[in-house]
Amino acid sequence: MTFGGKIERIYWTAKGLIISIIVAWLYFGNKHSHLDIYLDLVVSSYIIFNMVMLWLNSRHILKGNRLLVSMFGFDTVFLGAAILLDGGAQSQLYIGYYALISLLSVHLSAREVGIVGAVFTVSYMLTTMIPFREELLFMVLTRTFFIWLLGWIGYKVASQMKASEKRVLKTLDVLNERTWELESSQALLENMYETTKALSAILDQNQLFEEVMEIADKLLRVKKCAVLLLEPSGKSLFIYAELNSGKKVIYNPPLAVADTRPLEPMGAITDSKAVLKKKPFELELPLISHGKLLGIIQMESRQGEFTEKDRRSFSIFANSTAIAIDNARMHKKMQDLTIIDELTGLFNYRYFKNKLSDEMRRAERYNQPMGLLMIDIDHFKKLNDTQGHQTGNIILQELASVLKQAVRDVDIVARYGGEEFMVILPQTDLSKAQIIAERIRSQVELAYFSNSQGQRYIKLTVSIGVVEYPNGVLSANQLLEQVDRAMYLAKKDGRNRVALLTSNRPEEVNQDS
Ligand code: GH3
Ligand code: MG
Ligand code: MG
Repeated sequence: MTFGGKIERIYWTAKGLIISIIVAWLYFGNKHSHLDIYLDLVVSSYIIFNMVMLWLNSRHILKGNRLLVSMFGFDTVFLGAAILLDGGAQSQLYIGYYALISLLSVHLSAREVGIVGAVFTVSYMLTTMIPFREELLFMVLTRTFFIWLLGWIGYKVASQMKASEKRVLKTLDVLNERTWELESSQALLENMYETTKALSAILDQNQLFEEVMEIADKLLRVKKCAVLLLEPSGKSLFIYAELNSGKKVIYNPPLAVADTRPLEPMGAITDSKAVLKKKPFELELPLISHGKLLGIIQMESRQGEFTEKDRRSFSIFANSTAIAIDNARMHKKMQDLTIIDELTGLFNYRYFKNKLSDEMRRAERYNQPMGLLMIDIDHFKKLNDTQGHQTGNIILQELASVLKQAVRDVDIVARYGGEEFMVILPQTDLSKAQIIAERIRSQVELAYFSNSQGQRYIKLTVSIGVVEYPNGVLSANQLLEQVDRAMYLAKKDGRNRVALLTSNRPEEVNQDS
């Protein structure tokens, strides 16, 4: 039994009412003026006692059962005294007993009500039977019966109320839990919306994957997450980013994954809500943007099985990730367009011009030489005329990859004009540049190039002009003029050769291979 809050308020209110009624009864009943002094004493001590109890309760000294028993005990004594003073068996104050036992029975168990009822009965009998009068016996017995009956009814009603209160509380608990779940999932969705919205603003792919893994780790709280993307032909998967127990890895370049699934039907997946693999602790969702499958995202639970709710929110995450990846790719394409030559994939003229100035400045600053090669295909016009423009284009593409493979990563290969290419060789002096040029020349000479039907039989040669910087020139344009002159010398000298132009003897051909 607890005593506090609402029940406590009811108790004090009921008790206050009862006291007021009794006091009014005693003072305004005007029946027992000769007993006023005793009544004053009883009522005053009762009020004082109650105030002491209240004070003890407010200081948390007397609480719960002990408080209740003390107060009811005193109530009984008070009632007994009041009834005695009010004329014993004739007194109407026995109603107070009813009220008391009703109040008590709400708080106590059946056994406790029985005991308290017995105490009340004895006390009531004592107060009403002194002096004993036979004709009162029936009245006393009926009243006693009423006290017990009231206690029993009070107890029954109270226990019913308690049971239904328990049920209501249980329902409330369930409701609370549901509400909490709803609120938390709404918060998650809102959070997800905000976070994923931010994803679309990230244009750098690696930075994007970093952020995606961060969300998987901190917001979705998964143990593992991996982003696998299809390569352009759509036939194999590459892993781009991975999360494992909080550790992020971004693969640059991406790694091919040994995925044995047939990818052909996967390409047909266009439903962004699809689930590719669903195990209790694993989930695999498609990454779809603009109705096109980009790849998949795999997740593994950190603790417990994935729920339907998880699946739904992860689907939102997968969709936003797919759109963001698409976005970043598009951005890269746009950026490439401004610096990359579309036909050959090499840097374009504009980028080359900027880069050349940069590299010249750098060479000056660090006092290191820089090599520059100009490569021109020999008799390309003739080849174009006999094999067709289409074949000419394929040859340009194939030559581009020969050039890229012949130089280091730090070297810059650019398409300068129609069939003219430039190679910037940082930290390379003239003699080293000559060796590289010679290597390119001989590799081209040995290679076979394809026609538009894919037949690989076409032979061609290139002429290469080589210069070194610094060599007395001041501007990039002057250096370009010189390399052009060197190339021209190679042509003049019979083509399929490398020609140098030195600073001290600009017009001299230092001879080639
Ligand atoms: P050489 O350099 O040995 O003196 O002779 P050449 O025939 O290569 O002479 P030139 O440099 O004047 O000719 C360039 C030719 O390259 C002209 C054009 O037919 C061809 N060409 C230029 N750009 C392209 C292109 O983008 N695609 C194709 N297919 N051909 C191109
Ligand atoms: Mg040319
Ligand atoms: Mg040419």
